[in-house]
Amino acid sequence: MQTEPEQALFADLDLPDALLRAIKQLGYESPSPIQGKSIPILLEGKNIIGQAQTGTGKTAAFALPILANIDLKQTAPQALVLAPTRELAIQVAEAFQVYARHMKGFHVLPIYGGADMRGQLRALKRGAHVVVGTPGRILDHLGRKSLKLNELKTVVLDEADEMLNMGFYEDIKSILTHTPKEKSSWLFSATMPQEVNTIAKKFMHEPIEITVGTKNSGAKNVNHQYFIVGARERYNTLRAVIGMNPDIFGCVFCRTKIETQKVAEKLIHDGYKAAAIHGDLSQNQRDAVMQSFRKKKIQLLIATDVAARGIDVEDITH
Ligand code: AMP
Repeated sequence: MQTEPEQALFADLDLPDALLRAIKQLGYESPSPIQGKSIPILLEGKNIIGQAQTGTGKTAAFALPILANIDLKQTAPQALVLAPTRELAIQVAEAFQVYARHMKGFHVLPIYGGADMRGQLRALKRGAHVVVGTPGRILDHLGRKSLKLNELKTVVLDEADEMLNMGFYEDIKSILTHTPKEKSSWLFSATMPQEVNTIAKKFMHEPIEITVGTKNSGAKNVNHQYFIVGARERYNTLRAVIGMNPDIFGCVFCRTKIETQKVAEKLIHDGYKAAAIHGDLSQNQRDAVMQSFRKKKIQLLIATDVAARGIDVEDITH
């Protein structure tokens, strides 16, 4: 007789009823590989390093065990999730909210730079069970003592490689000094460069390593094609690709902020519904662009890697 341990059901995962109901309503049929592998380990409060890309279901992989262990009566933050960008922090906080829809009185708070400080201070005063934030602003609140992490049970470093790429190493280090010694530390990263290993060695006690998919590879459900063209031909080639795919709904990644703007301007000039997103836009501008993209008012989102990392938009064609 054969058994298939990775084909578990959510019901086998020892999650509270409230979460199982939410998962069912979302239509998730079975745990994704990263969820199947990590949820049992995380429910026990062990430390892990998970190598998984966006789209593998890693948000639920850490959010569900955190929610399973939340004490709703305690209002001091019990879990902190650090994420590289405001967009990702918002998205992760929204995911918590959705999974916790049957946990009455549950509060998750996104905390990120560029947003109104007073609103965040008020929200922190009211209390939150889970805080999801970008390192800079979290550190800012720790300095002001508006955020206290002494009751923390879990810290998650989401998209760790990206946070380190963005130069958040020192901030993360300082934030971790504000957390209790006894806690679970979970690190998720799409790639495992040396810097990620260094931070894991330094701050995590005997982490269990979990990998889904092949290391440092592209997602399997994406068909890869490339064209080698000179810089001057690049825009025309892009237009040709768009021309061949009139229903295109996708992202164009550029190396620099200026490039994103130039490409977006040219596309708009040529009659396409395009917009640029990058770190120099204000929070409101970034929110507005993402909103239009999600609603398909924009067909092409021209982005720097950093601005778009981890963003989850449905039905992307290219
Ligand atoms: P993530 O990798 O966390 O960004 O998740 C990618 C997408 O997969 C999100 O839209 C989730 O809602 C969805 N998702 C997560 N877990 C599952 C699951 N077990 N079954 C189906 N969809 C899922």
